[in-house]
Amino acid sequence: MDLILFGIQGSGKGTQGKILKEHYDMAYFETGAQLRKLASEESSLGHKVKEIIEAGHLVPNEIVMEIVEDFLSKVQDGKSIIFDGIPRKIVQAESLAKLLDQNNREYKAVILDLSEEEALNRLTKRRICSNCKEVYPASYKGDSCEKCEGELVTRTDDNAESIKVRIEAFINETMPVIKMYEDKGLLIKINGEQEIDEVTKELIETLDKILK
Ligand SMILES: [Zn+2]
Repeated sequence: MDLILFGIQGSGKGTQGKILKEHYDMAYFETGAQLRKLASEESSLGHKVKEIIEAGHLVPNEIVMEIVEDFLSKVQDGKSIIFDGIPRKIVQAESLAKLLDQNNREYKAVILDLSEEEALNRLTKRRICSNCKEVYPASYKGDSCEKCEGELVTRTDDNAESIKVRIEAFINETMPVIKMYEDKGLLIKINGEQEIDEVTKELIETLDKILK
């Protein structure tokens, strides 16, 4: 059973995804990482991706799907996949569904549910070590880095305006995708407002019933 992982910025999606990958020994598809990996490879797909990235263009959906297809063909037999950061839009969700069906793969979508207000709150209060770049969540109360004692500063990309743009893209483009999975009865909702380890606990308790 493959999992398509969703969560608004600040929901801890990446963190939880990596925990699930280890816990259930799954393959991990993260669009950005796959693009970077392919761009460094000597293959026709790799060259195509490299060209697009170097030109600064957005990678078109058909190429993203080619990358997914390539990933599916290489994944170990019997191994489930976590999809992180895909699909972002309805058109992509439709292509992905088609591809997964063609490959006889079963899947469910998982949303780490977090309100827009809490996402905004977490992102604007997140700080980064000015020295070693370690990221500290809003819940961290210290003034300096635990690793190197560097000064903690608000991340420059975390200014309210850019955060708002990212959150709005999620609400306008990705929420309809999540709704689509919900309508198909494929959506698992997890309370993302909890502490990280509580989210993990709820995820694993829920997924144990489905994956085992
Ligand atoms: Zn540091």
